[in-house]
Amino acid sequence: MSHRDSESIEVDRWKKKFLDALEVHDTREKSLINRIKLLRRGLVGVSLAGDGLDAGLDRELTSLRATLRSQDSESGIEVLLERIERSVLRLDTRKEQSNHSMHNALTLSVKQLLELPLPRDLKRGAKQYQKKLNSHFKDPQSHPALIVDFLELLRLVIRELAQTNEPGASRQESGFWARLFSGSAEKAPTAPTAASNDTPKPVAKVIKEPMHKQDEPEQFAEDVLGEAPKVVNAAMDAAPGSKTANAADLEAESAASPSLSNDIAPDPLAESSEEHDRDAAIAQTQSSVREPTEAEPVFSVIANHAEPALLRILENIYVPEKSNALAAKVRARIEKGLNWYEFVAVLEDIYALISAALDEERTEFQRFLNELNQSLGQVQEYVHFSKEQDDASRESERALDEAVRTQISEISDSVQVAENIGDLKLAVQGQLGSILSSMDIFKDMKRQQQESAHEHSLELEARLAGLEQESKELRVHLARQEKLASSDALTELPNRASYDQRVREEVALWRTRFAEDPSASLCMGIGDVDHFKHINDTYGHLAGDRVLKILAKQISGQLGDENFVARYGGEEFTILMPGLSLQEAEALLTQVREKIEHCPFHFKEKQVQITMSFGLSEFSEADTPEKVFDRADKALYQAKEGGRNKVCAAKPQNLAPKA
Ligand code: GH3
Ligand code: MG
Ligand code: MG
Repeated sequence: MSHRDSESIEVDRWKKKFLDALEVHDTREKSLINRIKLLRRGLVGVSLAGDGLDAGLDRELTSLRATLRSQDSESGIEVLLERIERSVLRLDTRKEQSNHSMHNALTLSVKQLLELPLPRDLKRGAKQYQKKLNSHFKDPQSHPALIVDFLELLRLVIRELAQTNEPGASRQESGFWARLFSGSAEKAPTAPTAASNDTPKPVAKVIKEPMHKQDEPEQFAEDVLGEAPKVVNAAMDAAPGSKTANAADLEAESAASPSLSNDIAPDPLAESSEEHDRDAAIAQTQSSVREPTEAEPVFSVIANHAEPALLRILENIYVPEKSNALAAKVRARIEKGLNWYEFVAVLEDIYALISAALDEERTEFQRFLNELNQSLGQVQEYVHFSKEQDDASRESERALDEAVRTQISEISDSVQVAENIGDLKLAVQGQLGSILSSMDIFKDMKRQQQESAHEHSLELEARLAGLEQESKELRVHLARQEKLASSDALTELPNRASYDQRVREEVALWRTRFAEDPSASLCMGIGDVDHFKHINDTYGHLAGDRVLKILAKQISGQLGDENFVARYGGEEFTILMPGLSLQEAEALLTQVREKIEHCPFHFKEKQVQITMSFGLSEFSEADTPEKVFDRADKALYQAKEGGRNKVCAAKPQNLAPKA
């Protein structure tokens, strides 16, 4: 091969290398364009998250999305982003104003409630609420809890006024008051009436001037039960102390929320049946009808103070679309002016609205978490891919650089020896020079690209870590919400909704076990506190609440983790005992009963004995949870009839002998 031939081959090789390098550069450019596209998509996603806060902002976000989807030029986006910034600032100011007016309304209402002649414990509760309002209101996360606490305070004020004024009458109508005031889920008569119509109904009881409670019950509450057992206080004490409130604080807050918000918070979907219950209860009390003339003066003192605050609360809570009709009805009712029993119904409706909003928020969080998870997966994949590309590219550049230098020195050497072809030598040297400078330019460009790509992927990684953190926090929030929905605020036991779900799960498990082993069993117990009304009547409702809390701890402690206990409603508990035969379950419930019987409840130096009765039944093959509940309920009735403080088991249904 001639010298000229070999040099021409060298030049071709160089050309090829140069073209290959250009191709790598093209690939990098495509990858960068792809990144920009992904970031655009990310921006579209982020803009969706801001939707629904404000009509003006929604408009801007919609144009931003349209621009991002349709244009490549960035100029329109810049203008839009400026407009969005202005809208967000406006929204922020509006929010601040609305918060300010809400704070004023609550402060004023509590101040006015404090002017009423209330018993000492309620005054103390109201004062604590005042303090809490001042210290927590600046944290927007605490607003729902503050509203619920305020409603609870109002509820207690009304209950207090009603009960202290005519104790005899209030006790006789325990069904009605239990449902309205105590958070009990006792079965309500279902006879529908002209549901919550707007025409004033006659009242069943008369509220006279408020009186202070007797000393004895109050002392009992403080002395015997250890701590001042006030629902409002508990809810307030557990509220987050500052913006940095940790998860445990918040959990305490949710657990201490007033029982209405958890236990029998009216299901917004079952609004009409709630209303039936309420109105049936009102109808039930109409047998002792009296005109509201005496009640009105005292009631109107409360109403004048509280109506504006309720309207302000309605303005400020978020109302899901499906609850709009209920919100409008409540607003109209308040605007029209409330008589005292409508007032209680309105409080329940506001609880229902808040509970519906929480439900919706939960669903929304779930959806958001799913989307977030998917996005995180994509981002992670992308970062991983980018990094691999960067590494490969750096390695190929190093190899290229090395090869270039070797080849150049080889060509240089061969050119040096070809003295007789001076022109060729000059030409080849010229070419080599330009190849070298092209390579230098290429290398610089590549380095810059790599550096910026590397920075970019570090940035993405940091953002990914932020998103992961956010996702974790949302999960914690969701878990807290779920706990709130499934447990009873007073006793912290699972609530009735939890029981309904758990019994279905336990029955399904038992059926699977039963198919393999016919001796497998599942028992259900119902426990009911004996003469609980007497405890309430003698020592007050707040002391009664505290007793329920202590009993709940005793029962769940005795039953252990393998059995399940829920507060079914009022002073009734349902118990599921998987794997225990009827005899074993009876022995266990007897143990629980005895433990309670011997539990020392003290009033100063005086011991108060509290007992419970239990009904028990066992699942058989053709049973439904309702049938078993019914049998256990009948057995409970027998226990009561037989003198109370007893465990009675229903006759087994399964006549086939067990293996
Ligand atoms: P028995 O032995 O027959 O069960 O008598 P009792 O007095 O326990 O039965 P009854 O069902 O007549 O009374 C239950 C009372 O429990 C009526 C209601 O006011 C009260 N109650 C229900 N829920 C609560 C609550 O959450 N707190 C308080 N303090 N009392 C409640
Ligand atoms: Mg009962
Ligand atoms: Mg009872």
